[in-house]
Amino acid sequence: MRNLGLSFLFLLLTTALSAQGQPAPGTAKPDASRITLVIHGGAGTITRANMTPEKEKAYQEKLNEALQVGYAILKKGGTSLDAVEATVRVMEDSPLFNAGKGAVFTHEGRNELDAAIMDGKTGKAGAVAGITVVRNPISAARAVMEKSEHVMMVGPGAEQFAREKGLEIVEPAYFYTEARHKQWETAVQKDKSAGTADQLSAPTKAVPSAAPVKTKVKVKIGKPQSSVEDQIFTEGRKFGTVGAVALDQYGNLAAATSTGGMTNKRYGRVGDAPIIGAGTYADNAACAVSATGHGEFFIRYAVAHDIAARMQYKGQTVQQAAGDVVLKKLVELGGEGGVIALDREGNFAMPFNSEGMYRGYIKANGQSEVLIYK
Ligand code: ASP
Repeated sequence: MRNLGLSFLFLLLTTALSAQGQPAPGTAKPDASRITLVIHGGAGTITRANMTPEKEKAYQEKLNEALQVGYAILKKGGTSLDAVEATVRVMEDSPLFNAGKGAVFTHEGRNELDAAIMDGKTGKAGAVAGITVVRNPISAARAVMEKSEHVMMVGPGAEQFAREKGLEIVEPAYFYTEARHKQWETAVQKDKSAGTADQLSAPTKAVPSAAPVKTKVKVKIGKPQSSVEDQIFTEGRKFGTVGAVALDQYGNLAAATSTGGMTNKRYGRVGDAPIIGAGTYADNAACAVSATGHGEFFIRYAVAHDIAARMQYKGQTVQQAAGDVVLKKLVELGGEGGVIALDREGNFAMPFNSEGMYRGYIKANGQSEVLIYK
């Protein structure tokens, strides 16, 4: 009799729960058939004409390695957060990408790194900006999310926090690469010829720290023309940021983005990558997004959040929402770049309005693809 009563109670409970429709975010039964990982290695002027077969092969291999590392985690039941962090770390450790090792140089000849991570299940997020000595900024962002009560930490404070949390600290010179340094020199030279260098202070040699200098930079809204902002972007537009979005066996989404920002960026400039809702966003109720491109535009128009909001408020699919924002809205506004966006069903989109975007995906069955050009 008692057993019958208990069974009845159980029946009542399960009926009530299933009447709510979808299981609550993050409480779904593990289901390995839905795991998905999508990555990008930056958008910009990436054309066949400015690529060599060796370079192309190197990018293909590194992007594939990043996909495999994240996939292995998802496959064995790891979380989407673990997958996006590990995937981004692979790209941060490679000199090929503008993140971690291989980051671009600021106007003052430093490497200042930004990163963010977001958990679609809890809405928790962590970000760091303007850091110069943490080998893997994405792990610093994760530490901010999980080991502090804050969302974003910048500069020396963020570095001190990373140190205290036991993250790997490197000399600023670790981030030096010849290719990025050359890009920086070219950018600075262009500044000089365009007569904008004096507006912005004379560039210094690469130094571990430099005092901020007064500047008269004008921020332009709308299409960049011949502004300082445009020049900064022109030099940085060939290569980019890295990012990953993942869906795990438990139906949880996560997003991660890491970058050196834009070549020749001015004092203390922070891009969209570490700004939650601009370059990075994840919400189990909509999608996970990581962006790359001209960060100022992605900040102004809250691009990553806009994509999620369109799905929630307008009922758009992830392809429609990401496509409308990147291929229509940003194009009209003059914001160059792209995004990767993934929903809870494993549907994803990788739209970009630049000439190319390093990108790739891997599905539950292991089917993967890496793409570079349009
Ligand atoms: N979005 C990055 C920034 O503005 C740059 C990039 O994606 O290459 O900092």
